[in-house]
Amino acid sequence: MPAPRLRAKALEDALGRRPKHVEPPSSRISEYYGSSVFNEEAMRMFLTEDAYLAVRQAMHQGTRIDRKLADQVASGMKEWAASKGATHYTHWFQPLTGSSAEKHDAFFEPISGSRSIERFDGTMLAQQEPDASSFPSGGIRNTFEARGYTAWDPGSPAFVIGRTLCIPTIFISYTGEALDYKMPLLRAIKAVDEAATAVCQYFDKDVTKVTCTLGWEQEYFLIDEALFYARPDIMAAGRALFGHTPAKGQQLEDHYFGSIPERAQAFMRDFETESLKLGIPVKTRHNEVAPNQFECAPVFEELNLAVDHNMLLMDVMEKTARKHDFRVLFHEKPYAGVNGSGKHNNWSLATNTGKNLLRPAKTPKENMLFLAFFVNTIKAIHSHADVLRACIASAGNDHRLGANEAPPAIISVFIGEYLTNLLDGLEKNIKGAMSPASKTELKLDIGRIPSVMLDNTDRNRTSPFAFTGNKFEFRAVGSSANCAAAMTVLNTIVASQLRAFKKTVDAMIKKGTKKDEAILRVIRDLIVESKAIRFEGNGYGDEWKAEAKKRGLSNIADTPRALDVWERAETKKLFSEMGVLSEVELEARHEIELHSYVLKLQIESRVAGDLAVNHIIPAAISYQNRLIENVRGLKDVLGPEKAAKAAATQIGMIEEISEHLGRLKTLTDDMIEARKKANVIEDHREQAIAYCDQVKPYLDKIRYHANKLEINVDDELWPLPKLRELLFTR
Ligand code: ADP
Ligand code: MG
Repeated sequence: MPAPRLRAKALEDALGRRPKHVEPPSSRISEYYGSSVFNEEAMRMFLTEDAYLAVRQAMHQGTRIDRKLADQVASGMKEWAASKGATHYTHWFQPLTGSSAEKHDAFFEPISGSRSIERFDGTMLAQQEPDASSFPSGGIRNTFEARGYTAWDPGSPAFVIGRTLCIPTIFISYTGEALDYKMPLLRAIKAVDEAATAVCQYFDKDVTKVTCTLGWEQEYFLIDEALFYARPDIMAAGRALFGHTPAKGQQLEDHYFGSIPERAQAFMRDFETESLKLGIPVKTRHNEVAPNQFECAPVFEELNLAVDHNMLLMDVMEKTARKHDFRVLFHEKPYAGVNGSGKHNNWSLATNTGKNLLRPAKTPKENMLFLAFFVNTIKAIHSHADVLRACIASAGNDHRLGANEAPPAIISVFIGEYLTNLLDGLEKNIKGAMSPASKTELKLDIGRIPSVMLDNTDRNRTSPFAFTGNKFEFRAVGSSANCAAAMTVLNTIVASQLRAFKKTVDAMIKKGTKKDEAILRVIRDLIVESKAIRFEGNGYGDEWKAEAKKRGLSNIADTPRALDVWERAETKKLFSEMGVLSEVELEARHEIELHSYVLKLQIESRVAGDLAVNHIIPAAISYQNRLIENVRGLKDVLGPEKAAKAAATQIGMIEEISEHLGRLKTLTDDMIEARKKANVIEDHREQAIAYCDQVKPYLDKIRYHANKLEINVDDELWPLPKLRELLFTR
């Protein structure tokens, strides 16, 4: 009986590896930071004054660049890219598949006979037609046009990777429908800018623009390449569908506080260097709670750029990992029983005057501005919790939400003790019209908000949406997600709420209420209305589930049902009113998300079936045969009577293995039947529900019996690297 060679070989390979140290170009990051980006410095060197100013204006004010100047920009960009060794260019975009996409074209162009030139003009810069027929579009392309095109987004600078000039673009259909993540994001950024600027105008006439800021934190697992290849489930689905919980998991949390393993550290330094060249301001790196889990976080940036940088970073990480014989797992729950991976989205709003609107200040007037944004954000979450739940829903995140160390599926807001007291105080203080005395007292209260409340002890890690001193942290976002999905929704609902706020305040002012008082009274009303969404307790406990139910908050556990909110008339109204997504675009997105959910579960279910029947059952049978031989041998040697006693344990084991083998095979067959039924359902929602309710439960049942076999079968015969090996091999 040959030992399972792949597992043994994989372990040997993995254990034999040494860190691959790659030295950065300089020990001073400032010497190479942004060197692969067509940033302002590069533009000044390679563009004419007019072209440079046009791009700057487009970047900062969103103005259009005319064709002639675009030609100049293209020509300068090409020269710059060539100086960095680029021979090709691509429009880089973010289709709804989840990763970034690119189609490379050479600058080179043959002209008459044997001659050729290097060509890149304004048209090529501004627009490109990718062969888009295979990107998901949820029926939009069929309904409207056969193809889509990419269009230059000057808000995010071009960069060179390898020998290719990459131009960040949006991806739209010929009739203008968004086919990607970026277009709606840009629309939401515009909506929040308009609504927030209007509110700022109550306080400060100098505020003419409000920008969203995003600081993401990317969690991930590393796995050795050889072990990765020995686990078909991780290769195909990004997560381990089988594996008994190791004796030692993350209980001791020694990994969290420990130093980063050297091989991982070499990898980190290398991908950080590449990221820094691309202008991604990565700053923080540390171990995470689970073994072989890590986190990387940059300094926050303007939202559109931050989204691009996160997509780019994931790409750089994947490429760099290969050089270090690792694979990066961005899946939200690669291993059952240990911490999953999230991508916390730290979000705030900043004005053109340099003020962070979510930072408490020193004076009552400034704090009223802070409170307006703070309370309106909370109210937005309260009114639209289901939309927020939907934008982070995915097959992977379903396993994470509510499990170890992850926020629950119930959306709530944590603001800390200090602000809770303040809001409670405000709620009681302002009753009806305000007396001068209560107004003064209130102003004093508001004036007292400490400006820095970044106290770690006041942080509640169990909350999906937490205020952390000068920003909100949306923690429910999954590690594999494009931040744009969550940020589009968050900014849309905040924009809508700010718009409603302004309307109410204006109406009161019109009727004769003083501005400050009108603002305070509306804030107070919002505090009262949104109280149910505020939760300071332990989000992991079952008591919270009961309490949330009493408060009327939704607890939607799975993706297909979370996505139902896209169908609601009020959702369609919200997104079209804010100019972010039309009804057709929303429907298309819904369809794509349902379909992607089905595809993911289909892959998992197929891989689980294959592994159970082709890998696990044969291994169990081999071991059972050994036991049977052993029992027979005992009979030969000892005779039937003595053998009955001596072989009792083995016979028990043979029976137990038979039991699990049988269940495993029956369950796999039943799962295939369930899948067949689901596959012929035409309605996307019904099909997703069928996969969720009828197919998915088999995965857990199959896992149960497979894991039982894993602990019964001789370790030497077991074909798949075990969880302890995946988690602890460095
Ligand atoms: P923790 O892991 O404790 O949540 P980190 O320091 O890792 O905290 O992450 C905090 C993140 O918040 C960083 O990415 C940081 O850039 C970001 N951040 C800080 N201020 C702002 C802001 N005003 N807007 C958006 N993000 C911010
Ligand atoms: Mg965080």
